[in-house]
Amino acid sequence: MPLEKKTTTYRGAQLKKDIIAYSKGAVEEVTGSKHYIEFNNKIYEIDCGAFQGGKDPEKRNRESELVQPDSVILTHAHYDHSGLLPRLVKEGYAGKIYSTPATRDLTSVILMDSAKIQAHEKGEPAYEEKDCLEAMNHFSCFMYGKHKIIDDDLKVTFYNAGHILGSAMADLQFTKKKFLKKEEVHILYTGDIGRESNPLVNPPATDMPAPKYIFLESTYGNKTHESMDKVYNELQYIINRTIERGGKVLIPSFAVERAQEIIYFIKNLMADGKIPKIPVYVDSPMAVNATGVFSIHSECFNDKIKDDFMAKGKNPFSVRSLKTISNYKDSLSLAKSKKPAIVISAQGMCEAGRIINHIKHGIENPDNTILLVGYMCEGTLGRKILDKEETVEIDGENFKLKAEVHKIDAFSAHADYKEIIDWLSKVDTFKLKKIFLVHGEKDAQANLSKVLNEHGYANEIVKEDTKYKLV
Ligand SMILES: [Zn+2]
Repeated sequence: MPLEKKTTTYRGAQLKKDIIAYSKGAVEEVTGSKHYIEFNNKIYEIDCGAFQGGKDPEKRNRESELVQPDSVILTHAHYDHSGLLPRLVKEGYAGKIYSTPATRDLTSVILMDSAKIQAHEKGEPAYEEKDCLEAMNHFSCFMYGKHKIIDDDLKVTFYNAGHILGSAMADLQFTKKKFLKKEEVHILYTGDIGRESNPLVNPPATDMPAPKYIFLESTYGNKTHESMDKVYNELQYIINRTIERGGKVLIPSFAVERAQEIIYFIKNLMADGKIPKIPVYVDSPMAVNATGVFSIHSECFNDKIKDDFMAKGKNPFSVRSLKTISNYKDSLSLAKSKKPAIVISAQGMCEAGRIINHIKHGIENPDNTILLVGYMCEGTLGRKILDKEETVEIDGENFKLKAEVHKIDAFSAHADYKEIIDWLSKVDTFKLKKIFLVHGEKDAQANLSKVLNEHGYANEIVKEDTKYKLV
């Protein structure tokens, strides 16, 4: 039975004419995105993400306070942006969840997978499958460039964020009344910003109305990525040297977007004769489901994919030697097999899922390669492998790290700090008063803040439970 709707300490008559913003996640860290904005005695939430990595994320996902908003705006499907929506609904949320259609469909894949994982973990789950199904009933979707009137004084428009399929930046247009005058205030929540060179989706949009405030992600605020052009060469080199040794290439991957990007690159490498046509296994029911979602949202692909594949009736993700593994028994026997192969399996930071068995059985074999292709949060098994710790503990057992470890940074779906500055330079910042930094670890945020200052952008790093008055 839904709990009674909570009121929060932030509501108050004095706030009626002010716009107040605060965050309860992705504050000096990169997961748990939950941002709130209050206006006219209403609370709007941007993203309702789960925590990953760090100290006891399960406890935080189960017990951290969720503010009950009037509306939720979801920038994209990733778990750290969508993962607590079912708990919000379970705790009584009755409003709408606004997103693009592709985000809705990918979110359903991600939430159902999370509920399944939680059902097998010790302790009380944050939510169950039935809560996910209920959450899906709250979605209201619209495409990039179309606006939705959420309240008399709030209009929301999505702009392509270029990060993953369906990902959006949300332009919140508030109408403030000053005596007989009206002022339109645009506040931009970037969600996660992608890169010019994303192989599947178009680059981040820059044609949104001039924002007065930007809530900007800062995941790679202190890093620069390699050019995407390098991916082909690096992937070719790593796959070939591993196969020549007779080993397996184990790729822990996010099931959504990254897995499809890898399949797309492997398809091209095989088609160009750059790597042998060895078996490629996608051992992740979630990745298989996500690939299905990609196939019904070709409206989100970039022009190159549309021209090269869709216009010719071809599927950008079909590889002849690709096999999908559906049952657990086959997954385990693949993990134990020593035959050369490429195995793409989730979860991306090696914290759960079938990749765990592949790592357990493959990590002590120097012929194998563990190829990391995504961000690894502090405290995760993926981060320990990335840091090349001599011994790693998996499920209470110690394993020697003897497999070769590679990381391809160019795969990142996040803009690096130079790309963020480049993107900002193309946005109309004529009215910009301040940039608020969210979704980044401390070092990354400190550097991005410095770089933004150097480029003349006033900015502030958002702190936990601090209220910001946007005037
Ligand atoms: Zn993301």
